Amino acid sequence: MSTTLFANARILDGTQDHAVEGHVLVEDGRIKEVSDKPIASSARSIDLRGRTLMPGLIDAHVHVIATEVNLARHALLPDALVAFRSAKIMREMLMRGFTTIRDLGGATEGLRAAREEGHFDAPRMVICGKAIGSTGGHTDGRGRWDSREMHWLEQRLGCLGRIADGVDAVRRACREEIKAGADYIKIMANGGVASPTDPIAFLGYSKEEMRAAVDEARMAQTYVAAHLYTDEAIARAVECGVWSLEHCNLIEEATARAAAEAGCIACPTLVTYQALKDEGASLGLPPASVAKIDTVRLRGLESLEKMRRAGLTMAFGTDLLGEMHRHQSEEFVIRGRVLPAIEVIRSTTMHAAKLLRMEGQIGVVAPGAYADLIVVDGDPLKDLSLLTHQGTHLPAIMLGGRLVKDQLSA
Ligand SMILES: [Zn+2]
Repeated sequence: MSTTLFANARILDGTQDHAVEGHVLVEDGRIKEVSDKPIASSARSIDLRGRTLMPGLIDAHVHVIATEVNLARHALLPDALVAFRSAKIMREMLMRGFTTIRDLGGATEGLRAAREEGHFDAPRMVICGKAIGSTGGHTDGRGRWDSREMHWLEQRLGCLGRIADGVDAVRRACREEIKAGADYIKIMANGGVASPTDPIAFLGYSKEEMRAAVDEARMAQTYVAAHLYTDEAIARAVECGVWSLEHCNLIEEATARAAAEAGCIACPTLVTYQALKDEGASLGLPPASVAKIDTVRLRGLESLEKMRRAGLTMAFGTDLLGEMHRHQSEEFVIRGRVLPAIEVIRSTTMHAAKLLRMEGQIGVVAPGAYADLIVVDGDPLKDLSLLTHQGTHLPAIMLGGRLVKDQLSA
């Protein structure tokens, strides 16, 4: 693989409060050297002339197989159609500067293998296989009058989740997902917007079931991520040993402090509620779901402030569905309304890397890390919207040492 030298960069990865001037040498897909003095090398040199160089962005909550908004209907789509659409969704994420994604339900080892074989350009993938939920919970798309068995639906690529009721079934589901390649376990421990019969306050799993999932994850040297909105649901999950707290829109400060003390990481996903509010109904979101949006949307920004005051680490997530994926980078701007820009940057670099258990590998501009890098025209600390507009302000994107976008070389 070729070598590349980024000269005269303003390096911004969140390890300091500001960007630092420097030069970065890339070799064999990794960052080889970072120096404040010019690096002598025969590598192809790209003079950044003071442009910002950041680690590739990390989105720690996506669903790459969610190619339409109505998830119940989506589960019936043919696998081949879903796979090709997912590849397109991932490529578009990469072109927005996201070089790593964590999928929270739906992505498979098969998709990851296809990516690794080079059939399409896509971010690095961290996956959980199917999300695991209870009957009537957030993975149950069947609706009141539909009592058909879920098993055949759960085989479909277009189905984000599976159902497991009771401790033994939860253990078995965890084991099956881990066997199939899951890097961690995702459970649905609260009601959700996109599912038809679970009010937001629905608790989803008993403590015994959650503890069983946590135990299985620990046995596999990994962790549990849980879908959570209400303060009660979050407090129970923390008590049961869940580490990755998704959404957290209705969290209160005491629970946020308990979560911080337990070393948990939260992954808010505010942009999806705005997108659902603006476009959900017109894109086919059923009325029962539309009615639930504001319950979680209206307190989103407040939740960020509460978690910040409590010292709870927050990673960057988006959770978008179907055509709404194009709003992915707007999460930066939404968070920037209440959080300092540097904290927003850290959510997509060091904090997300920690949540993905890839610290030192991604989310940092340092020797030994993957050469996943983006060049930004301007200073994102002054204007987070430079990260929006589908990569317009990103003249170069590098993935594992390969330039997948390059408007800078002569
Ligand atoms: Zn999600």
